[in-house]
Amino acid sequence: MTSSRPQVRTNLEVSELAKVLEVNLQQGQELRPQRSLGIGVYYDVGGLKLPESKMYLLADVGILKVTGHVAFPSCPICGTLDLAVDVRCPNCLGTDLAKVDLVIHYECHYSDDISRFRTEHGELVCPACSRSLKTVGIDYGRPGIGYSCNACNNKFQFPVYKMTCRNEHVMRLDELALIRVPIFKYTASPPVGRYELLAIIARELEKRLPNASVEQFVSRKGVLSSKEYLIPLLVEGAKERIAVTVIDEEVTAFEQLTIVMEMALDLGARFLVLMPESIERSLRASISSRTGSQLQSLEGIFSPRMLKVLTHRSTDPSAAALEVLPKVEREARES
Ligand SMILES: [Zn+2]
Ligand SMILES: [Zn+2]
Ligand SMILES: [Zn+2]
Repeated sequence: MTSSRPQVRTNLEVSELAKVLEVNLQQGQELRPQRSLGIGVYYDVGGLKLPESKMYLLADVGILKVTGHVAFPSCPICGTLDLAVDVRCPNCLGTDLAKVDLVIHYECHYSDDISRFRTEHGELVCPACSRSLKTVGIDYGRPGIGYSCNACNNKFQFPVYKMTCRNEHVMRLDELALIRVPIFKYTASPPVGRYELLAIIARELEKRLPNASVEQFVSRKGVLSSKEYLIPLLVEGAKERIAVTVIDEEVTAFEQLTIVMEMALDLGARFLVLMPESIERSLRASISSRTGSQLQSLEGIFSPRMLKVLTHRSTDPSAAALEVLPKVEREARES
């Protein structure tokens, strides 16, 4: 089905991005949005600038979690973050301003830069009324840094701020829009190889089964519980559908298997579970020791109509995919 092509491409992208994150980030590391002119919002991962859209792809599969947000001012008309600030005279809106260290003579209300009051002997004398300034706070004030307009000679503390965006929309400070973007945390609990293995299998199945629909990371509601499940790979043939998942972490293998069983039952779907041989072996040993019986195969604990385990020897995703593909394809063709 041609409609699922972009989906598979997206998931190949996810596995590639996931690898970039795995190489560059520590577990739990925070990724804060940054912005740059021309690019907009991005996230720095080992020097690579990832846009927001890519981060959402990774958040969808649980590699990233949203831990908070940051707001950036943007143009309310076109949405760009590329903004330039202008300061203008509140009196004439002129832009020919100079920064001054303001002195205000209270008696005559004259104000100017301190250099205009300072005599050659170092005292302060008002250039407007020639009275000398003695005590700050009593006969003169020092409000700090202000501005002087070279067009109308106005002296002031607070200029008018005007923002101009890249597309030349002009706005006041209070007219700026805010865009809220997430802060992410890297939570790479599922090993990255899993996505790569599934992405390769998805791509191959698409080629080999042109009449089936092949989709990754499909959300489906349980029939019994109406709980939402994320199916890593779903192949829908003419008669039946097959879900494909991976169990690849020794320490959580038993819990993962329990979740797959629950999903299979609740969704009423058959699951193919891909796992390394070593994990299948230790899983069987651990179940045997719990139940006190020898297990010939994992399917032995429930219906093979519901779950089938396909093992592979290789730890490399491409090689592992080659090992299991013929079996996955056969199962999918029979469905
Ligand atoms: Zn604009
Ligand atoms: Zn004066
Ligand atoms: Zn002015």
